[in-house]
Amino acid sequence: MDRAGIELNGVWYRWPSRPIVVVCIDGGDPAYFERGVRDGIVPNVERFMKQGFGAVAEGNVPSFTCPNNMSIATGSPQSVHGISGNFYLDPDTGEAVVMTGPELLRTRTVMAEFSRHGARVASITAKDKLRRQLGKDMDLGAGSVNFSSECADECTLAEHGIENVLEFVGMPKPHMYSPKLSLFVLEAGLELLAERRPDILYLSLTDYIQHKYAPGEREADRYYRDLDERFGRFDALGAVVALTADHGMSDKSHVDGSPRVIWLQDVLDARFGKGSSTVICPITDRFVAHHGALGGFVRVYCHGGLDPENVRRVARGLAGVEAVHDKATAARLYDLPLDREGDVVVISRSDACIGAAEADHDLSGLEGHRLRSHGGVSESRVPFILNHPLRPEYAARAAAGPLRSYQIFDFAINGVDLP
Ligand SMILES: [Zn+2]
Repeated sequence: MDRAGIELNGVWYRWPSRPIVVVCIDGGDPAYFERGVRDGIVPNVERFMKQGFGAVAEGNVPSFTCPNNMSIATGSPQSVHGISGNFYLDPDTGEAVVMTGPELLRTRTVMAEFSRHGARVASITAKDKLRRQLGKDMDLGAGSVNFSSECADECTLAEHGIENVLEFVGMPKPHMYSPKLSLFVLEAGLELLAERRPDILYLSLTDYIQHKYAPGEREADRYYRDLDERFGRFDALGAVVALTADHGMSDKSHVDGSPRVIWLQDVLDARFGKGSSTVICPITDRFVAHHGALGGFVRVYCHGGLDPENVRRVARGLAGVEAVHDKATAARLYDLPLDREGDVVVISRSDACIGAAEADHDLSGLEGHRLRSHGGVSESRVPFILNHPLRPEYAARAAAGPLRSYQIFDFAINGVDLP
């Protein structure tokens, strides 16, 4: 077995001397931990921050789930791994394509690369949509696993490296829209850690609670208490525990509770004619009930000679818009793959979101809740917490900044000072 370590995307990762657990708290805005520490509901995380390391790092823009999970898991920016949204418009076909196929991912994950060098790794996600990219080229031979709680009852040794997961975890299959979908991921990770002692675990949760409840609300507090209790158990089992998030979360409603939406496709259709542009909301996935596919970042593709500059001029004049960029500028500013970028990028302020055509968004899933969502620059700040202090070299790097969330595997594997 090769115990030297691995190199991936310009980073050398030493061989872990104890299990590394990286948790991506989907939608885990730093405000939840700030409030949780103040209210005394996250004692383990509070201890990690005091005795280990705690900071707020920069995540990717667009602050969506797939781009940030892939950055964290590959230790690279979007320009390297290629996943710049949950959705993009295929320039060859003109079709909107979901960006979850492994063929779209341009590099391997830290877990996959370690597994190919003989390490035992585990990648467990709440939603199945991330699973195939996270496990791209993963070698399941040495007891590695790759599965989701969403499809926990369908696991096979051949595809997921594990079977009978419900029995293994001792929990029934959780409902798609419930905090249990995330807790199942953590329980499965704890069980694996205790039984198989993997070298690396990547655990990615779902943002169901954060979309619905603000920091300090009872349901959010309960969820964070539940998370914290499990983080404490990972720590007690001797793992290096690293906590981050894919994106934050902002309230995007009017005072009366109705969502503050810029219906950009309607604006552009009225101004330039139907069919002259396509607004793609890259937050879109199959699970839109809690945000109605409304986020803080959209891409506009121009057709039939529509000048992107005209789109930019109109977008800049809209209330609630924070920034408008042409393709090249957006790619440069946010380190995005140019070949998957739209002609125009429009980003909303934290208190507003951007949709396509009003008729195409179903907001009934909000069920009277205020709209909380993400996607813009304002939701790109995320926690960066480790349960052990940093070695001097890494402490200096963190202090010099900017600290990026996709450095968390580097910091967790190479950067902590272990007793
Ligand atoms: Zn997310």
